Amino acid sequence: MTAALGQGVVKVAVFGAAGRMGQAVCRAVLDAPGLDLVAQIDVDDDPQRAVEAGAEVAVDFTHPGATMQNIEFCARNGINVVVGTSGFDEARQDQVRALLHGTEVRVLVAPNFSIGAVLMMKFAANAAPYFESVEIIELHHPDKVDAPSGTATRTAELVAEARAAAGSAPMPDATLSPSQGGPGLDGARGAAVESIPVHSVRLRGLIAHQEVLLGTVGETLTIRHDSLDRASFMPGVVLACKKTGTLPAGLTVGLDALLDI
Ligand code: NAP
Repeated sequence: MTAALGQGVVKVAVFGAAGRMGQAVCRAVLDAPGLDLVAQIDVDDDPQRAVEAGAEVAVDFTHPGATMQNIEFCARNGINVVVGTSGFDEARQDQVRALLHGTEVRVLVAPNFSIGAVLMMKFAANAAPYFESVEIIELHHPDKVDAPSGTATRTAELVAEARAAAGSAPMPDATLSPSQGGPGLDGARGAAVESIPVHSVRLRGLIAHQEVLLGTVGETLTIRHDSLDRASFMPGVVLACKKTGTLPAGLTVGLDALLDI
C-alpha cells in the first residue's frame, strides 16, 4: 500500500546520496519546507533503511544499471519513486510499466528536472514542424557514463512525434557514409534517435548543455539551454517529491506532467 501524499510532510529517501546529484538533492530536501529527508542510501547501504525510516518517496540519482533494482525494491515496499538517472529508454520504461502493473506505486522518470530544459524541449517540439531539418547537440562533463543524454533522447522523441503529427517530409541529407559507399567516416553524422541526428560532446569544464538546431530554406533557429549549476535541477526535484503521489498509479515520463506549460 503506497503511503498517501499531499498532506503534511513528505518523507523522502535518496538513492545515490553520496553522488554529485545525490548530495545536492539531500541538501535541497533538507532545505525544503514540507519535505523530510529520512534516509540517505548509497552503493554499500541497505535499501531496507528507506522502509524502516517510513519513506513515502525515493529519489534515484544513481547509475543506469542500479536504477531498475531500486525501482523494484520501492515497488515491492509501496514507495513512490522519482527517477533522475539517465538511460531510461523505451525498453526500460516498458519493464517499469510491467513491474508496476496492479500496484498503486507511482514512478516519475524525468530526463531533466530543470524548468529551462523542459521549456527547451517544448519549444523544440513546437517549432519542429515549421523547419525541414532538426539536429541536436548535447554537451556534458566527461564523467557522464551515458551518451546520448536522456534529455537529448527525449527531445528527439518529442521532435519526431511533432514532425510525424504534422506529416513532415524526411529531412534532406545527401551524406553517403563509408558503409554506404561514400567518402568520410562512419559516425560523423552522430547517432540517429527516431531519425533525428544527435551529437554528444564530452568536455572538461562543462556541466549540462544542449542546442536544438532547426533549419529551413533561408533561415535557422537555435534553441539553447545551459545548466550552469546542479542547483538548476533542485526546484524540479523538490516539486516531484511533493507531487509524484498525485500522479496516476504507474509510470509517468517527464516533469511537464507536473507543470502547467
Ligand atoms: P554520480 O556522482 O556517479 O552519483 C551516482 C551515485 O550513486 C554514486 O555515489 C554511486 O556510488 C551511487 N550508486 C551506485 N549504485 C547504487 C545503488 N544501487 N544504490 C544506491 N546508490 C548507488 O553521478 P551523478 O553525476 O550524480 O549523476 C547521477 C545520474 O543522474 C546520472 O545518470 C546523470 O546522467 C543523471 N542526471 C540527471 C539529471 C536530470 O535532471 N534528470 C540531472 C543531472 C544528472 P559509486 O560511485 O560507488 O558507484
